[in-house]
Parts: sequence; C-alpha cells; structure tokens
Amino acid sequence: MDEFALIEKFFTREAGSRSDVRLGIGDDAAVTVIGTDFDLVIATDTIGVDTHFPASAEAHAVGHRCLAVNLSDLAAMGAEPLWCTLVLSLPSGDADWVAAFADGFFELARRFNVVLIGGDTVKGPLAITVTVHGRVRSGQYITRSGAGPAQGIYVTGNPGESAAGLQRVNAVDPSAADVYLIGRFLYPDPRVQEGRSLVGLATAMIDISDGLHVDLTRMLQASRMGADLDIGQIPLSSRLLAGMTGEAALEFALTGGDDYELCFTVPIERESELQALLPDWNCPLTRIGRTHVSPEIVWTYNGQVYNVPDTSFHHF
Ligand code: ADP
Ligand code: MG
Repeated sequence: MDEFALIEKFFTREAGSRSDVRLGIGDDAAVTVIGTDFDLVIATDTIGVDTHFPASAEAHAVGHRCLAVNLSDLAAMGAEPLWCTLVLSLPSGDADWVAAFADGFFELARRFNVVLIGGDTVKGPLAITVTVHGRVRSGQYITRSGAGPAQGIYVTGNPGESAAGLQRVNAVDPSAADVYLIGRFLYPDPRVQEGRSLVGLATAMIDISDGLHVDLTRMLQASRMGADLDIGQIPLSSRLLAGMTGEAALEFALTGGDDYELCFTVPIERESELQALLPDWNCPLTRIGRTHVSPEIVWTYNGQVYNVPDTSFHHF
C-alpha cells in the first residue's frame, strides 16, 4: 500500500468524532476551533536523512528545511504561523551539528515570528519532526477542495528549480546557476506572506511539495473540477534552463517536487485583485490554466495534448 492508502485505511476512523475539528486528515494542515475569533491550524512533517535530504547537507540547511516544509503547509491554508514543536532523533550528541542546525532553524523561525515551545530529543537515525501551529480568522482557511468553475489556476515562483538543485547537490565544480539551484533545494522559501494575503481571494490552495502535476491534480480532484492547463505557461527560470534542454526543464517543473511553491485558484473576474497583491510578494506569479465543470484535466503544450509522465514520489 502507498502512504495515502495506509493513512486512509488505518488512521481516519475516528474522524468526525468531535465537532470542534473543522478539517482533519487529508489537506495540507488540520483546522480546529479555538474560540469565536480564530481557528487553530496545525501541520506536522518529518524529514529524514537520505529520504528528504542528502547526508551531505549542512546542519544549518537541515535546520532551515525542517521548519520551512511545515511553514509551507500553513502557507497553503492561508494561516499565520505562531508556535512550533521540534522532535529530534539524533545518532549522536554532536554539539557542533546541533549548534548549526539550531542556527538554521531559528533564523527562519525569527523571520516569520514563530516560537519554539517544546519538543523531544531521542537517540536514533537522523530524522526531524516539526509541528507548527498557526491561526486564521474563524472559517477563513483555504482548503484544497474549494475551487469552482471558470477560475484561474496560478502557481508561485519557478517550479523545478529545487529538484534540479537536488540533482546537483554533490556537483564537484558547480556553475553559478548550479549554486543557485542547489540553494533553492537546500533553503526552500515558504510562501507564508503570499499564502496569508490570499485569504478571501483564493478558493482552493495546495503547496506543491510533491510536484506541480501531482499536487495540482490532488487539488482539482478534491474540488471535483476539471481544468485546461497550458504547459507552455509554466515559468521555467533561466537558471533551470541553463544546464538542460527545455524538455528536461519541463519535466523537473511538472514532476520534480520539493518546490514548496503555492498553487491556487481565483475566480477569473477577480484577477485584478490578485495582481494588486503582487508588489508585496517575494516571488513571481503565473496563471497556467483554468478550471471547468467537466471532469477532465487536460494538459496541452503548443496546442497538443501532453501526457505528463507519472514519476511522482511515493514512500512505499
Ligand atoms: P503534506 O504533503 O501536505 O504535508 P501528507 O501527504 O504528509 O501532507 O499527508 C496527507 C494527510 O494525511 C495530511 O492531512 C496528514 O495530516 C495526514 N496524515 C499523514 N500521516 C498520518 C498519520 N500517520 N496519522 C494521521 N494522519 C496522517
Ligand atoms: Mg502540503
């Protein structure tokens, strides 16, 4: 069974047993009621050596990454991060490693005003679990399932850069473009401020941590919408294109994963409100398609139907 089948079969059975859980398993984060003004938004993710980061990654980058991937899930809900907990499984008590890890962790935490409030430290294979808590105004969280018909489909940043960076992470003589791409992999920049600014405007949202193609498909399926996607619109950066063909770059952008960009829908008639947000954003934004009620999800490239290869990552 893949991980989603395992979760569905064994861990969703008590869902719905409390009315203060607004949103449980199945989205980027969970949402619970904490009062009349705000809802609490909670996400947790583990990163393990050799599965989520190479053993050669600097401790500083690992400290950044374990928090960044969680903040990205809060961003995808439109939530404001508040607090986090940290569970460290370490093979040894290497103080130099932990010092650099903590620097990477706290530099990012400070940037988004997230406070570490607890955790646990155990001996074991190198793996880090972070749980982040954030909030949204009551009922204002953005799910994967809210897209309607005739809505624009947008993606932040330049997908594919991170996966290309991972491929070069041990390069002996990296070019300037390689160094940039490796940085995109090692230091993902969660789109927290961008996600928050979409509250009240985006109808559905997901972070594309598993790759643009698979995560966008998940969002559309959760929303029961079809779509027309134009692959030619996907914003391939010059650094991504520097070391590979356009075709290879497209494959990284569609199926590479680890991007931690946001993909979301906004009603076409509200696109000017979206444009008005962009001066405050740290990344570009591109419209890559449009939703429709008929269920097909059609990807085209230069007017031809394009079959995206299914190379998405599965743990099992
Ligand atoms: P993401 O990639 O957005 O972090 P995941 O793919 O890790 O999300 O998880 C999908 C959904 O399944 C989330 O709602 C997550 O909380 C839930 N989930 C994953 N593993 C478990 C588990 N062992 N028990 C309960 N829920 C789980
Ligand atoms: Mg996610």
